[in-house]
Amino acid sequence: MAEIKEEINKSFLTPTLEDVFSSLPKSRILSEEEKKILEKAFNFSKEYHEGQFRNSGEPYFNHCVQTAKNIARQNMDTDTIATGLLHDTLEDTKATKEKIGEEFGEDILFLIQGVTKLGTIKYKGVERHVESMRKFFIAMAEDIRVVVIKLCDRLHNVSTLEYLRPEKAKRIAIETLEIHARLADRIGMGKLKSELEDKAFPYAYPEDFKKVKDMFEETKSASEDYLLSILERVKKELEIFDILYIKIDHRLKHLYSLYEKLKKLNWDIQKIYDIAAMRIIVEDIGTCYKALGVIHGLYKPVPGRFKDYIAVPKPNLYQSLHTTVFDGEGGTFEVQIRTQKMHEEAEYGIASHLFYKEAGDTKKAQERHKLNKVQDLKEKISWTKDLIRAQEDMQENKNLLKNIKKEFLDKRMFIHTPKGDIIELPPGSGVIDFAYSVHSDVGNHIAGAMVNGKLVSLNTKLKNNDIVEIFTKEDAKPSRKWIDYAFTSVAKRNIKNYLKEHGGTIDKFFI
Ligand code: MN
Repeated sequence: MAEIKEEINKSFLTPTLEDVFSSLPKSRILSEEEKKILEKAFNFSKEYHEGQFRNSGEPYFNHCVQTAKNIARQNMDTDTIATGLLHDTLEDTKATKEKIGEEFGEDILFLIQGVTKLGTIKYKGVERHVESMRKFFIAMAEDIRVVVIKLCDRLHNVSTLEYLRPEKAKRIAIETLEIHARLADRIGMGKLKSELEDKAFPYAYPEDFKKVKDMFEETKSASEDYLLSILERVKKELEIFDILYIKIDHRLKHLYSLYEKLKKLNWDIQKIYDIAAMRIIVEDIGTCYKALGVIHGLYKPVPGRFKDYIAVPKPNLYQSLHTTVFDGEGGTFEVQIRTQKMHEEAEYGIASHLFYKEAGDTKKAQERHKLNKVQDLKEKISWTKDLIRAQEDMQENKNLLKNIKKEFLDKRMFIHTPKGDIIELPPGSGVIDFAYSVHSDVGNHIAGAMVNGKLVSLNTKLKNNDIVEIFTKEDAKPSRKWIDYAFTSVAKRNIKNYLKEHGGTIDKFFI
């Protein structure tokens, strides 16, 4: 028996520290000090996981290296990558808290403990789902890096689903699509989101996966030759107009997002305009608009498909110009134009915010920059705090899960203030929800509301991209009817609290 096992293990490549280093983007240069920390973590993990194996028969340590590589590809900081190597040592090996703290310091220990806490879920079924979400959100509010590590750990786990029983693989794959991929999206890590989805898709919905794959392969615009010929033409045209670009590349829509669109469009692939997309990376914002002009001169734009996410970024901070054009032969393709900085932010999300360096920054300035960014991000993701508060209101586990999904992970509407700020709300929200998400003081003193320039009643529901203005009056106050008008638990809770504190006559029913 022992001999056979030996044979199996040999067929797996032994990962090296160099594999971790080379997973970082080329622009990232590690200091000697950083390399030393990673080397120490590499050796520590290897030693403590010695003799442990995965379902695949692979040494357990390989999973730790793969996780660290996934984290490095997201361009995260050294402590986070080191934690990737060490993330299972506390739970699965003899390494103690004290030992890890002594060897690697409080920061790394804190991250490992965070990941370990996320990993230990005692419940099964729906409760397990709820518990896992709850933990994710708490971790996210504490230190978002813990969530990134867990997502990268999950990415390797869904890459090895073939070794699990089909039912178990399916359960993990669906959980990945419903929770992990959406979380990655919410923190702006687009690349990680697509990778999680494409690994999980074939195991979650095998038949649909095959159907989508077949349709995709039969589509003309999905062919490499087609894209390359267009790419050449665009490059030439940009050169004629003297527009310098850093990079032009193309991407095909990844299968899971194609699937999501197909489901909405009655499986009519003709209605999907962005199966093929071209990405033009340029130096500065001015050049983005110039390049757009050139593209629209060369190919006619499809009406209604132009989006200026540079002037109005998406709430997860994504910036880019998007347009869809006719190729002149009956097909369409999408063009995305953005600066290098915007590109990095779209790919790496929070990580790029933490490590983006202004040219010429001194080390001190960089530190300050990083702190500001962390603060910035904490504010940007303040919805995690809403969520933690919201769940305190909800008693039943099943309802909790439904509500969390409905309010925080499902598609969101973007509502504009007259000044151009964007408030994100779940579909189903109305003017009262809008007012409360601006501020509870605004909500508590609504006197009237205007949607797209028209006065409306307070039970008016909102649509994506509405412009909403709230009028407040010192003596205006919530009435009990508002509880029915409100959709979000944040608004409902605020109204109930107000009535409890000021009204005194609220029915038990509403508490
Ligand atoms: Mn793990």
